[in-house]
Amino acid sequence: MEKRLKNGKRVRLVTGDITRIAAGAIVNAANSALAGGGGVDGAIHRAGGPGIMAELDEIRAKIGRCPAGRAVATSAGRLPAKYVFHAVGPVYRDGQHGEPELLSGCYRTCLQMADEREVHTISFPAISTGVYGYPLSEAAGIALRTVVEYLETRPTGVDEAIFVLFDAAAYDAYAGVLGEYGSAAGTP
Ligand code: ADP
Repeated sequence: MEKRLKNGKRVRLVTGDITRIAAGAIVNAANSALAGGGGVDGAIHRAGGPGIMAELDEIRAKIGRCPAGRAVATSAGRLPAKYVFHAVGPVYRDGQHGEPELLSGCYRTCLQMADEREVHTISFPAISTGVYGYPLSEAAGIALRTVVEYLETRPTGVDEAIFVLFDAAAYDAYAGVLGEYGSAAGTP
């Protein structure tokens, strides 16, 4: 599914493995320790190669942990991208502990980092919806609202945001929300 915003910017939903889809920047669902893990994180390090972790080692030595809601950038190794933005999503408790703001902060931070680096295409996984336990439909709403609002209201150089959803359940949750924005068109 693709939604074209009034200013010509695009939000696209695809099903698949985020490491296989070319973009200026690929966003990783990282953890605060920036130490690698399962899910998207594992896939990104496996496909991108050891150079990404070597850069994270240097960043970690400088800043320590990366707090939830923020992100750090590395190059992308063998991935089909120029950068990886390692975003730290919130661990979901009950939605009453600042989780929505932190999740929204991940997307906004990554879009700002894209702008700082003149990246025009950015791909996102469904941050926090794996081991961090964020309910898919809530996470989809926050992710899409944040990204659409940024693309519609900021003077951004990002032309396209791609959400790469790993399975049909995630795709359907995002498509349900994006469909409500009106003139969504196209097929998965
Ligand atoms: P978090 O710790 O932020 O919850 P996870 O990596 O556990 O991060 O999961 C985030 C989402 O990414 C989940 O919906 C999961 O199904 C999905 N996912 C896992 N591997 C990939 C992949 N290779 N590409 C895209 N999405 C993936």
